[in-house]
Amino acid sequence: MRSVHSALLYLHNQEMEFRRWQRELAEIPAPPFGEAARSQWLRQRFLSLGLDNVHADELGNIFGLLRSDDSRPLLGVSAHLDTVFPLGTRLETREEGNRLYGPGTSDNAAGVIAMLAVASALKRTDLRLRANVVFIGNVGEEGEGNLRGMRHIFSSPEWKDSIHSLLVVDGAGTDTYVTQALGSRRFEITFHGPGGHSWSDFGVPNPIVLLARALSRFSQVAVPESPRTTFNIGVIHGGTSVNSVPEAATARVDLRSASMDELHKLERRLRECVNEAWSEVPLAFRAGESKGSGLTGTGAESKVRFGIECIGDRPAAELSPDATILKVLRAVDNHLRIKSIARLASTDANVPLALGKEATTIGAGGDGGSAHTVREWFDCTNRDLGLKRILLTLLTLTGVNE
Ligand SMILES: [Zn+2]
Repeated sequence: MRSVHSALLYLHNQEMEFRRWQRELAEIPAPPFGEAARSQWLRQRFLSLGLDNVHADELGNIFGLLRSDDSRPLLGVSAHLDTVFPLGTRLETREEGNRLYGPGTSDNAAGVIAMLAVASALKRTDLRLRANVVFIGNVGEEGEGNLRGMRHIFSSPEWKDSIHSLLVVDGAGTDTYVTQALGSRRFEITFHGPGGHSWSDFGVPNPIVLLARALSRFSQVAVPESPRTTFNIGVIHGGTSVNSVPEAATARVDLRSASMDELHKLERRLRECVNEAWSEVPLAFRAGESKGSGLTGTGAESKVRFGIECIGDRPAAELSPDATILKVLRAVDNHLRIKSIARLASTDANVPLALGKEATTIGAGGDGGSAHTVREWFDCTNRDLGLKRILLTLLTLTGVNE
C-alpha cells in the first residue's frame, strides 16, 4: 500500500515540525477550567489541516472530522488539552538535543501533537478510510477537571451513540495500553459545631476532634490487594486560633479502586465512620447531616452537624478481553515488534469504558518523565514509532478502501 507508506514516511520526516508545534502548545497556559486558549490553538490547527466540521462545544472541547466514503460507526481519537499547572506557572520550554523540557511537554502536549500528526498524515495522503474519524481535543481530564470534558462528550446526543470506540492518546511512551479504568471517588467531609471560647465554653463538642475520630476510624479499614483498592486523607483544615473551640473542620479523602463494588464498599465505610463519630456527641448537641445550606431548623447552628460532599467521581470499568480495539492494538504491536503491557489507570477512557464502549489509552511515542512537575521532559527519540502505532491502529480499526 503505497499511501500507507507515504503516511508513515511523513510521520518520520516531519519530526522537527512536530517539535515546533509541541513547544508552541506547551507554552499556552491550560490550567483546569482554563483551557480556552489551547482550544483556540487546536481549532486553528484542525482548520488548517482541512478537517471537516471543525467546531467547539460549550465546554471548549474541539472536534474535527475526517470523512470516509462509507458511514460506518465513528472512531474517536482524543487527547486532553488541560494541564495540572495553575495560571501563573512559568511555561517556557527549551530543547536540548532530542529532549524538550517544560511543564506539560509530555502530559499532554505530546498526546495532542501525536493526534495532530496522525490527522495531518491522513489528510496529506489519499488513503480512503471506510469509517469516519473524529479527532477530539478535550478539556478537563486532570484532577479537579474530573473528566468533565469526556463526560460531556459522551452525554451529548451528537456523540454518545455515534462514537463506537475511542483511542485516547495521553503522555509519552509506546509500550503500554490501558485495559482497566481505575475508579475514584473523592469526598470533602465537614463537621460543624457551635464553637466558642476555649475556657468559658469548655465542654462544647469540638469539630476537629470529631473529624479526627472519624478519620482515625476510617484509616483502619482493611482494603483488598486485588482488586487493588486504596484511600488517602489528603487535606485537613479547621479552626481559627489556639484559644477558640473551632466552628468547623474539613478533610478531603480520595478513594480508588479497579472495582466499582469495592469503591462503593469503601464509601459506605467512610460514611459510617463519620456517622459514628457524630453519634457519640451528646444528644443535646446533635443536629443531622447537613443538606444544602446546612441549617436544618432554628438553633441548628448551635448544634453539631456534618456534611459529606462528593468532589470527584471517576467510574471504574474494564475493557473486554475480546474487544476489537485490543486485538488490533496487539496485532499492531506484534507487527512493530513492540513488547507492550496492559495497564490500570484513570484516564479519559474511563468514561466510554463505563458506558460499555471500546476504549483504551496509549502513549504518544518517545519517552517522558517528571510529569505534573515543572521539571517535566519529553524525549523525541523514536517518537515516530509511537505515531506509527497510532496510525496503523487507526487504519486497521476503520479499514481502508483500495
Ligand atoms: Zn494526561
